[in-house]
Amino acid sequence: PIYLDYAATTPVDEKVVKKMINYLTINGIFGNSASRSHRFGWVAEEAVDLAREQISNLINSDPREIIFTSGATESNNLAIKGCCDFYKNKGNHIITSNTEHKSVLDTCKYLEQKNFCVTYLNPKKNGIISLKEIKEKIKKNTILISIMYVNNETGTMQNIHEISKICHKNNILFHVDATQAIGKIPINIKQENIDLMSFSAHKIYGPKGIGVLYIKRKPRIRLTPQIHGGNHERGMRSGTLPVHQIIGMGIACKIMKKKMFDEIPYILNLRNILWNGIKNIEEIYLNTNLKNSAPHILNVSFNFVEGESLIMALKNLAIASGSACTSASLEPSYVLKSLGLKDELAHSSIRFSLGRFTTKDEIYYTIEIIHQAIKKLRKLSPLWEM
Ligand code: PMP
Repeated sequence: PIYLDYAATTPVDEKVVKKMINYLTINGIFGNSASRSHRFGWVAEEAVDLAREQISNLINSDPREIIFTSGATESNNLAIKGCCDFYKNKGNHIITSNTEHKSVLDTCKYLEQKNFCVTYLNPKKNGIISLKEIKEKIKKNTILISIMYVNNETGTMQNIHEISKICHKNNILFHVDATQAIGKIPINIKQENIDLMSFSAHKIYGPKGIGVLYIKRKPRIRLTPQIHGGNHERGMRSGTLPVHQIIGMGIACKIMKKKMFDEIPYILNLRNILWNGIKNIEEIYLNTNLKNSAPHILNVSFNFVEGESLIMALKNLAIASGSACTSASLEPSYVLKSLGLKDELAHSSIRFSLGRFTTKDEIYYTIEIIHQAIKKLRKLSPLWEM
């Protein structure tokens, strides 16, 4: 099948793999970066420091603001639980949105059991969260606002710069889940004035199981660690650093920085070809806000087509669907439902996500397959009459 699921994960770049291998075996740099008493440790630490710089270069941060975690799920947990615990005497109110990733939503649900109050904002029909509504929901005891940069199902982008201004005007911490934005939208964390930002290597051609939480130093943001132990990562996240993974993430960021400005228009062009090739299908609904989105995601729904049959008919395409969803449940996507889609349309949605290795030919083939599948399924559908 053709791989169009880059928002789920990406293949590791060969150059990344080649570097990583040097940090595993007896002939390589396998030391523990926390071993201060010998060279094996020192060189490993130097390598980690370089990776921290490479990652910082991609977002314009200070390397000391980068904390390594196991991925964006952990980063989101650490940011939200860690800040809420540390600043609990300042207040107990959090604002987030209904379309966040589960690692944000379930963390917030957990905090609700611990006496925190959470306001879940619904985006407008176009997927964008209203700035006015954010302002209205802010209370005296609001300590944190957590809003994702780019939604993982629709690709729709939030107005991070403006939300950041609202937060800082009101002395509220601002956390951003940038997992789907990194490498797809140029991020200058200093300009955007984000306090905490989560992202992961495996969405940008790096390895799985490594991610970052950016934590601003000026003014210094504090948080309570969620994993205790040997005081690694300035005490904020203990555990021996996975040096090879970190090296992988560093190189992936370095490559991304170099390629991004060519890659973004390349992927955007392919997405335009795809949308233009299918937009004339009858009863197709666009779930991505094309004017305000990352370039790599296109989410559409088809009326009068059954979700499961659609996936079966499209088995030559590796895509994500509103039906065969993350959990084994048959619940339609909560993201699409909070945009106001009825169940049937949420069920018959598909997410195409494109990446570095997607080709024009693959997109042309995809367009053809979609046309054939929809035609066939509608012939069979009792609800569809021509
Ligand atoms: N947030 C978003 C927006 C995501 O897309 C993902 C990955 N699907 C995550 C968080 C979790 O990332 P990880 O796989 O690194 O835990």
